[in-house]
Amino acid sequence: MGLTSSLRFHRQNNKTFLGIFMILVLSCIPGRTNLCSNHSVSTPKELPSSNPSDIRSSLVSLDLEGYISFDDVHNVAKDFGNRYQLPPLAILHPRSVFDISSMMKHIVHLGSTSNLTVAARGHGHSLQGQALAHQGVVIKMESLRSPDIRIYKGKQPYVDVSGGEIWINILRETLKYGLSPKSWTDYLHLTVGGTLSNAGISGQAFKHGPQINNVYQLEIVTGKGEVVTCSEKRNSELFFSVLGGLGQFGIITRARISLEPAPHMVKWIRVLYSDFSAFSRDQEYLISKEKTFDYVEGFVIINRTDLLNNWRSSFSPNDSTQASRFKSDGKTLYCLEVVKYFNPEEASSMDQETGKLLSELNYIPSTLFSSEVPYIEFLDRVHIAERKLRAKGLWEVPHPWLNLLIPKSSIYQFATEVFNNILTSNNNGPILIYPVNQSKWKKHTSLITPNEDIFYLVAFLPSAVPNSSGKNDLEYLLKQNQRVMNFCAAANLNVKQYLPHYETQKEWKSHFGKRWETFAQRKQAYDPLAILAPGQRIFQKTTGKLSPIQLAKSKATGSPQRYHYASILPKPRTV
Ligand code: FAD
Repeated sequence: MGLTSSLRFHRQNNKTFLGIFMILVLSCIPGRTNLCSNHSVSTPKELPSSNPSDIRSSLVSLDLEGYISFDDVHNVAKDFGNRYQLPPLAILHPRSVFDISSMMKHIVHLGSTSNLTVAARGHGHSLQGQALAHQGVVIKMESLRSPDIRIYKGKQPYVDVSGGEIWINILRETLKYGLSPKSWTDYLHLTVGGTLSNAGISGQAFKHGPQINNVYQLEIVTGKGEVVTCSEKRNSELFFSVLGGLGQFGIITRARISLEPAPHMVKWIRVLYSDFSAFSRDQEYLISKEKTFDYVEGFVIINRTDLLNNWRSSFSPNDSTQASRFKSDGKTLYCLEVVKYFNPEEASSMDQETGKLLSELNYIPSTLFSSEVPYIEFLDRVHIAERKLRAKGLWEVPHPWLNLLIPKSSIYQFATEVFNNILTSNNNGPILIYPVNQSKWKKHTSLITPNEDIFYLVAFLPSAVPNSSGKNDLEYLLKQNQRVMNFCAAANLNVKQYLPHYETQKEWKSHFGKRWETFAQRKQAYDPLAILAPGQRIFQKTTGKLSPIQLAKSKATGSPQRYHYASILPKPRTV
């Protein structure tokens, strides 16, 4: 037998053996391709060829507590944005941090001979494919159930959770101890790892900073497969890199989140303005005060005369006769939404405090609406909307959302043009707008914000109606977003995208500005092969035929791996 045929023979034998092994395993446990429960991190010693079926077999041979699946990849091929369909090769359902570390080490071991990349997937609530890994491995973080949610009371209470845990579960559990995280997102069915990779911004962020401000410690599996515990004092470079790091530096497997005493109830108030300056002045006034509301947000109402009637089901007007006389006459309105937390025994002092704060504001007097609801009901409010939309088949539609961070100095110019000239209605989804205080936000994280102490989050959150034309059509909504972005660029408003998405290296560099070098250096340090979160389209994995020896040499000499940028990535296929 010649050398080539001998190799072929061995490969075929290997394949036959693996095939039999696979059948045995699959026949015992349907849906699972690996059931070993050894804790040690192991990688096959020999490199498979770059042939997809060999790569597949090499994944199957990993010694895991959880399992790998191949047949259900379509379940993780899309995200909430619902515009791209990029199936991975495999899904890892991890049971432990060791499973994740094993997978990463294995892919590092394959080096640049394979084009396997890895995306941790929270709940896939990204908008433009950020949690997808085309022909790579998606790690389904919700399978990682350890640690259980563990609460520590005391002077500085905190909770330890898995990176795949969703915030609503954390809230339910901490409330049993009278405690709660401090900073939220508007929707709680998002994962800890997913929001900490972005920022986690909501109406509490002016007071407590975003969610990335309220983390004491993280456990990370880096792009090299190392398991590292980090905090502000320990491995701080990794800690700050990962917070707001768009999944580029490591996978968050555990987080320690700070807690505060939870209130039982909230007073939830909405008032309207027709003058943007008065609205934003009041918002800024409220976020600058020490004694103020616990939550400050706001939204824009363009051409929605129906809205006040809709509120009546959940909000009561302060004066119903006056409220019924109010006519918006198709004007653009700005709604200030504020909340004060309270316990039932503090109801009267809370009423006095809110009354005083409201008396200092300049809203249209007949438009004061309020409601009192349990704290958990307020925080989980978007889930109620989700259930209604799901029932109508309007949840799993394309979501061409656009989130912007706009410096205070530009907000008036932005609002004047965008809310009066570019948008003619917001029938297809809410537009949120509220300011935050950057001075309360931690520096050194990877999050990029405008360079002013006060900036606004403006979120356009439309749903496209499939097979529609006109203003609910996806193409129309995307063009509208583009018009907003073009205006921001032409008027030089120094706007930054939140949940950013760019196509070219130039755009990413301009997003990061002076901090690009640090971001790229951190990538080099923690994920030198650019394996992680390919769907962000910032770096592309280098695939050449580098042998393991060459790889080891390049690591030993510290010679940098080459980066490729989003500009040369294939464009995602539109659904
Ligand atoms: P995914 O979409 O699954 O992942 C997001 C990114 O993080 C991906 O790149 C992924 O690879 C990476 N990632 C996921 N898990 C990990 C991990 N454990 N370790 C490392 N990287 C990981 N955001 C706000 O800030 N404020 C809001 O008020 C808000 N409201 C929202 C409301 C709705 C209805 C929706 C759909 C989204 C909202 N978001 C909000 C956006 C949300 O923060 C992002 O969608 C975010 O991506 C979280 O979603 P996810 O947990 O499903 O993460």
